Amino acid sequence: MTEGRSPPSEGIDFGRFERGRHVNYWTLDPTLRRELRRVMTADEFDWAEPRLESFGELVGHTVADNADRVDATGPELDPRNRYGEIQNFVRYPAEQLENDRLVYERGIVADAFDAPPGREESMPLSHALGMLTLLSYADAGFGCPVAMTMGAAVVLRKFGDEATEPYYEALVSREYDDLIEGAMFLTEEQGGSDVGAIETTAEYDDESGYWRLAGEKWFCSNVDAEGTLALARTPDAPEGTAGLSMFLVPHADPEVVDGPLTKGDRYGTNDRGNGPAGGSGGALDPDQVNDQLYRQLKDKLGTISVPTGEVEFDGATAILVGEEGAGFRQMAEMLNVERLANAAASCGVMGRALLESRVQAATREVFGSTIDEYPLMREDLVDMTVDYEAATAFTFEAAALLSRDERADRNEERGESDGAKQAAETPLSGPTDPDRAARLLRALTPIAKLRTGRMAVDMASDAMEIQGGNGYVDDFVTHRLLRDAQVLPIWEGTENVLSLDLLRALDREDAHEPLLETIDDRLSAVSYPALADAVETTREEYVALSQALATLSAHDDAYAQLSAKRLAHYVFDVYTAALLLTEAQADLDRDEADGENPAAGDPDATENGDGRAALVARRFVETHLRDRDARGITNEDRFPIEHFDAIVRYAPVSPSSLSMTNGDE
Ligand SMILES: Cc1cc2nc3c(=O)[nH]c(=O)nc-3n(C[C@H](O)[C@H](O)[C@H](O)COP(=O)(O)OP(=O)(O)OC[C@H]3O[C@@H](n4cnc5c(N)ncnc54)[C@H](O)[C@@H]3O)c2cc1C
Repeated sequence: MTEGRSPPSEGIDFGRFERGRHVNYWTLDPTLRRELRRVMTADEFDWAEPRLESFGELVGHTVADNADRVDATGPELDPRNRYGEIQNFVRYPAEQLENDRLVYERGIVADAFDAPPGREESMPLSHALGMLTLLSYADAGFGCPVAMTMGAAVVLRKFGDEATEPYYEALVSREYDDLIEGAMFLTEEQGGSDVGAIETTAEYDDESGYWRLAGEKWFCSNVDAEGTLALARTPDAPEGTAGLSMFLVPHADPEVVDGPLTKGDRYGTNDRGNGPAGGSGGALDPDQVNDQLYRQLKDKLGTISVPTGEVEFDGATAILVGEEGAGFRQMAEMLNVERLANAAASCGVMGRALLESRVQAATREVFGSTIDEYPLMREDLVDMTVDYEAATAFTFEAAALLSRDERADRNEERGESDGAKQAAETPLSGPTDPDRAARLLRALTPIAKLRTGRMAVDMASDAMEIQGGNGYVDDFVTHRLLRDAQVLPIWEGTENVLSLDLLRALDREDAHEPLLETIDDRLSAVSYPALADAVETTREEYVALSQALATLSAHDDAYAQLSAKRLAHYVFDVYTAALLLTEAQADLDRDEADGENPAAGDPDATENGDGRAALVARRFVETHLRDRDARGITNEDRFPIEHFDAIVRYAPVSPSSLSMTNGDE
């Protein structure tokens, strides 16, 4: 801490930390806590809270330390053994194997598929995505295998059969030694966005009862996963996406190795496979290797902890998943999980970038004061915080819809009643009708991914600048945050491709209906006088957005495409404004009902409401929706100076102190 500096009287004192490590990411993130509380039932959150707190501690210490070391070395590939035989051996740093075990055994995937200890039901996917956000504070790269394990499990649970069942069970295992991870091989050199251009072929082998894959995949993250799902074209299949089928292509040849080869088999002391007990530290015997070659690992800018390789299939043994020709539709389910996982990881990167910035600003002294005393830095940090809240609110809104959709599917499979009703029917929980909710999810998913990916890059870059020159140096985590963040807008679909996906959701599923209805419902539920000004601005933009959607539906495809990215960002802004305003209203209502106003930033206090969320919502509307004359220079707005403690340090705000209009604080 800076000498002679007096700590703030209220809220979190970031000046007591040296950096954003060796801290608890859960207790220091009231925003994430608030969102997870909002999207879970009380019963789920009560179960989750102590576990998330313990996970935040683990990630803030051991996992974060290991992540820094892994970034320096990364996995290495030995494609062949010393006799020239293919072994496809990826050698992981010991710290990474330790992180794997620690994180999976906390149930990051398992909890969402099987009832964890102490519960009769599994947890919603939003819980898993919350854990993923915390994990990405330390290592967004590791978030990739976790997300693909989750995504592959969703797909195999829904479309798999007896042959894939053992793989599903291993994907959702709580025991590391019984675990396998997932991966997703779509991209080929000629097509990442253009999935219909995939050329890899699959032929059925009557004799063995397996399929054989031939072709090349160009970007394969978590290359040596045992639960890899790949798309390929069967003989005589039509061109384009309609001709694609989905295959499970394990790392070990399933014709030779009976059932999935687990982490315990590969790195532990299980007696099959060739783990350290077998002497070769995880390399398979050449006869166990599936007929594929991991040609090389990509030399990447970031996400070093996940090995991304090029793969040549040379008759690789594979198992058909679901129906022939349904591969693209099935893969879309995995992609939707991945895209929200990407958004959750983006939130994690933003959360860490913000934490590092808050600590730096509270401890670095220049011109005689800590830099958080200066107006420009206050504005930077206030707007970064508001953006983080917006990103998190939107992401977990979509995560809640995904959870309900997934549960409804699951309950339907079990012949039980509609799982979508699990959420409380309040304006904060979105549509309860399953069809409306699913169509809304369809629209929110690409938007969540595209906006948060971009925000993560921007915020990591801002955080680097806030560290000054040190931020550009490898010894400081901002270096890695920016390198890791830069992939978030690219993989799982670029911004342009996701914008076009939004158009498809609007065109084919009339997703604009639940979208507009939800915004309208939300705005109608906000009545607190101090929010009226912001509600009015948002409603004006809501009307303009409705007109924009109608205009696009009447225009030709080229014009719609031209507008698609602006539309996606516009929807994000209007939807998020309405969401933040509803949250603000809920906090103010609670405050009136309870007569309580505890320190919102006090990690030990329960998050009862106060007027802070109202300030956040108003600032979001001011900076993202309101037209400001002369770039706001003439409007006397001193918001970042006056509300710095409330926004950045989570100091409580008395509702009675809120002024009635946006810009006059
Ligand atoms: C580190 C890393 C890991 C990856 N891991 C995996 C993985 O595990 N599995 C996997 O399958 N893939 C993976 N990918 C691939 C990734 O998903 C693709 O790179 C991405 O989807 C873009 O595809 P592309 O590279 O073929 O680019 P292209 O499709 O050629 O796109 C190039 C540019 O054209 C734009 N564009 C494309 N179509 C349009 C259009 N219709 N209108 C306007 N603009 C358009 C894109 O937005 C982009 O800016 C990974 C990529 C990276 C960088």
